[in-house]
Amino acid sequence: MRGVDGRFGRCDVCGSPRARLFLRSPRLDGPLVRCAECGHLFVAVRSRGFTFTGADPARTAALADRIRALGIVDVGVEEGEAPSLREAAQRERLERLLRHVSGGRLLDVGAALGDFLAVAGERFDAEGVEPDPATAGQAVARGLRVQNTALDRLSAPPGGYRAVTMFHVLEHLDSPRAGLDVVRELIAPDGVLMIETPTVDSVFFRIAPGRWRQLIPDHYHFFSCATLTRLLGDTGFTVITHQKVGRRVSLRFAADRWRRAGLPAAGPLRHLLTATGTAERTVRIVPGDIMEVTARPR
Ligand SMILES: [Zn+2]
Repeated sequence: MRGVDGRFGRCDVCGSPRARLFLRSPRLDGPLVRCAECGHLFVAVRSRGFTFTGADPARTAALADRIRALGIVDVGVEEGEAPSLREAAQRERLERLLRHVSGGRLLDVGAALGDFLAVAGERFDAEGVEPDPATAGQAVARGLRVQNTALDRLSAPPGGYRAVTMFHVLEHLDSPRAGLDVVRELIAPDGVLMIETPTVDSVFFRIAPGRWRQLIPDHYHFFSCATLTRLLGDTGFTVITHQKVGRRVSLRFAADRWRRAGLPAAGPLRHLLTATGTAERTVRIVPGDIMEVTARPR
C-alpha cells in the first residue's frame, strides 16, 4: 500500500504524517518518499542509519564499504584535484559570505578536513565542529580549531557567532530542523547563516530521478528552494539570497561528473582527455543541483 498515514514517519519540514513512496534505489538507505503536504523529499525508513549523529567508526567504515560496493564514486577523483583548485572553490564561498558579513566569529558546521576554515580564517575568527574523530583530528593537525563533537553539544560564544556555515551538512542529518534549531541558538542576532545543499530543483533530478548523483547512502533529505525556505522560516530565519553554485574544476573531474550523471560516452571522453593531455585544463561548472541559501535570524 502507498501513502498510508504515518507509515513513513513525520515530515521534518511541515510535520505531516502523510507521505507517498517516490522511488526506491539501492543507492539510498531506505525508500525515498514525498510529503503529501509540503512536497519535501526524504528517506523515510533508514536501514543502516548512516547519519552524522556522532563518532561511530564501525558505521563510517560500513558507509565507505557501501559506497565502494555501489561504484558511485571513482576513488581519487576529488583528491586528485590540484590544491589550488580546491582552495579557489573555498575562496569563492568566502567571497559570497563576505557580501553579507565582514568578520567576527565564524562556525563551520561539518568542517571535515577544514578546507573552508583554512581560508575563512583570513577574515574571520574561525572555528569548526566535526563529528568524525579521524577527520577532526586531521583538521586539528593542520593547525585549525575544530572541535570533535556533535552540533548540539556546542554552546554559543558571548553574543553568538556572526557567521555559521553548513556546506553539505543538512542532507546528512537525521533532522535538519533540529540542526537549524541549534544553529538559531548559536548565531548572533545580526549573524548570517550560509547553507549549501543538493536541490531537487534540478533538470537531472526531473529527467531521471533514479539516476541522480545525489542519491547516495548517507543523504536523507533532498530540499527544494521552497521546502528549505519554509524550514528556515519555521526555525526563526529569513532567507536573504538563494542561488545555484558551481566551481572551477579540471576537465578530468568534469568528465567524472559527466559519467556520474549517466550521460553517454563518458569513457571515450576520459580517454580523449588523457590522450590529448588536456585532462588537467580547467573549466567552470555549475551542475545546477547544488543550491546555496543565505539567511538571517528574525
Ligand atoms: Zn512536509
